[in-house]
Amino acid sequence: MFPIFFSGSTDPAEGAKPPLMLFNTLTRKKEVFTPVRDDYVRMYNCGPTVYSYIHIGNLRAFVFADILRRTFLLNSYKVMQVMNITDVGHLVSDGDDGDDKMTLALKREGKALTLESMYELATFYKDSFIEDLDALNIKRPTVLPRASEHIAGDIAMVETLIEKQYAYRTSDGVYFDTARFSEYGKLGGIDTGGQRSGARVEVNHEKRSPIDFALWKRDDNLGWESPWGRGFPGWHLECSAMALEYLGKEIDVHTGGIDLIGTHHNNEIAQSECATGKRFARYWMHNEFINIEGTKISKSLKNTISLKQLIEHGYNPLAYRYWLLTGHYRTKMNFSFTALDGSATALTRLHRFFVEKLLGAKGGVVDAQYGLQLLEALNDDLDTPKAISLIWKIIKDDTLSPKDKRATLLHFDKALGLGLITLAKNGKVSVQLSVKTVSVDSLPEDIKKIIEEREKAREAKEWSLADELREKLSSHGYTIEDSSEGPVVTPR
Ligand code: AMP
Ligand code: ZN
Repeated sequence: MFPIFFSGSTDPAEGAKPPLMLFNTLTRKKEVFTPVRDDYVRMYNCGPTVYSYIHIGNLRAFVFADILRRTFLLNSYKVMQVMNITDVGHLVSDGDDGDDKMTLALKREGKALTLESMYELATFYKDSFIEDLDALNIKRPTVLPRASEHIAGDIAMVETLIEKQYAYRTSDGVYFDTARFSEYGKLGGIDTGGQRSGARVEVNHEKRSPIDFALWKRDDNLGWESPWGRGFPGWHLECSAMALEYLGKEIDVHTGGIDLIGTHHNNEIAQSECATGKRFARYWMHNEFINIEGTKISKSLKNTISLKQLIEHGYNPLAYRYWLLTGHYRTKMNFSFTALDGSATALTRLHRFFVEKLLGAKGGVVDAQYGLQLLEALNDDLDTPKAISLIWKIIKDDTLSPKDKRATLLHFDKALGLGLITLAKNGKVSVQLSVKTVSVDSLPEDIKKIIEEREKAREAKEWSLADELREKLSSHGYTIEDSSEGPVVTPR
């Protein structure tokens, strides 16, 4: 469908669109994106397991999927986006042993071990997840199917796999026979020669190979009826079955975090390709992980942070989105409150500039050069850091009229979702544009120390020392004011 030219561009050579290049985990290189159908993208994103509040690390996977969708739209594709809600059968380990996350959650919350209460619990966390999507300006996927409502599709797929002799029965369920699929593990990250790395010592002697995986897991006490007894679908199966139901046999893009590559995605490929005889997904894309203060996000380390907690701390959720976009989705990022403060300040500046200088400047056109540069950045495997830097270039560009600047920034906002379109629509300031204050607890240690020293100086009525320390804080980018509740700190 190339080349296409920007409307308003007078020089076709100058306006030629750069092709959309995406890094494909399957081939380990950037490739020109060509969907199965010319103008239409079918995308599947592995969604959350709704057994608890999702954390800010999970949200990177969904912001990444959203930027990908917006990039397809920028390239004039229509997009059908499916994101599953895992509300059954996801075991704590990648393998087939260990506890089911949903069952553990029922026990944690003192709820009855029934399918009804599992559904109810999952609904609560699913709704919370959707609130997070909205707060982060993530476009809602076209469909958000729940695994628990698609058990019939799972059963049908297992039946097909048994019929085609890709699956076998054991006393505790049905397993996929990896030896029957010569391409098993083609996405990488799996040890096809022996034990799955990281898995516990294999205990199921009925499995033909340690890397065979469950398609149906029997559970006589809880679960759905099936030809293989009551129980649960294997947790990889729901994605294969729901992708087939909503997107068809061959889809264009499949995404998730890098932890899903080795087992979950290799298993999805095996199930889908053996069941349908078609290539499952053309492009596999994976986001890197977020660490918190240099450490893996983990419940046992008590360092999980939810978006709601950030909001409670007074942050605009879009500051988190902004921060995510300052890193490329394939690089590891280290979350810290200092880093988030920087993004919160930048976002507030952007919003302020837009409201104070451009709100009324309607009727302009998108600058063709900047439009092209945005496309170049996003079409280069979603280079969002570059796109963000272009925003600041536009703001400083005095050769652009306020009208064109407004139109160009709104065009950028369509792709990046930083809240300018909402500001423009409301025609007034709807977000709090004053820079938010932060709790002292969330500040870096060296800053906390200066604040403590200043408090001591104030108590001792050493006013000039207190003033000096205020200056010192200011040189670190913090304004401090005193209130009856204690010091109020505002990052600049
Ligand atoms: P889960 O609910 O565990 O299935 O995870 C939902 C999505 O979040 C998956 O795509 C994971 O790969 C992704 N994910 C989990 N932890 C992180 C993290 N710390 N950073 C980025 N993505 C993550
Ligand atoms: Zn999945």
